[in-house]
Amino acid sequence: MLTDSPPRRASRAGFLESDRITTLDHPQDERLLSITKSIGSAIEAGTSGELRRACEQFLGAASKFYQVPGCEIRVLAARPLRVREHWTTELFGDYTPATMLIRVWMRTAVRKEVTSFGTFLSTLCHEFCHHLDFQKFGFHNSWHTRGFYQRAAALYHHARNTPPKRLFWVPVPGGRWRIDWPRTNRGG
Ligand SMILES: [Zn+2]
Repeated sequence: MLTDSPPRRASRAGFLESDRITTLDHPQDERLLSITKSIGSAIEAGTSGELRRACEQFLGAASKFYQVPGCEIRVLAARPLRVREHWTTELFGDYTPATMLIRVWMRTAVRKEVTSFGTFLSTLCHEFCHHLDFQKFGFHNSWHTRGFYQRAAALYHHARNTPPKRLFWVPVPGGRWRIDWPRTNRGG
């Protein structure tokens, strides 16, 4: 994972704020966890209708918790040729702010491999965090900052019931950061 380059001038304040917000609260009960289990079994069964319904439930429950308008979800069999999310090299999903539509797909474009449960859920949480950037935090853009990735990770680990992970970063040229995975996995 790699952050975006900081923008110049006008949008810089929003970018820096996004970078600073490294926590995201989550429900204190199991409402998301139980839906996540249905997402897992739908992926295992390979049924896209069931998967879409489970994703709808997940996003509905999450939107209600964060008090943001609901977003639409489309589950595609394979990655579309045109990918709308301009900000990133994500392989498994995109989000369009104007229509509040999340798209996720079950297979990679080239090798047609089925997305794993972990990758799928991580993508869903990532795209939902773009939705939160616009609807909850009121940012005019949704950047991939260190804070953004940390918020998406917080949601993911809650939804999967795995221990939260603090992300460690190393600077790369252009004011960007990439995750230091060995250190992150060691926990510091
Ligand atoms: Zn993204």
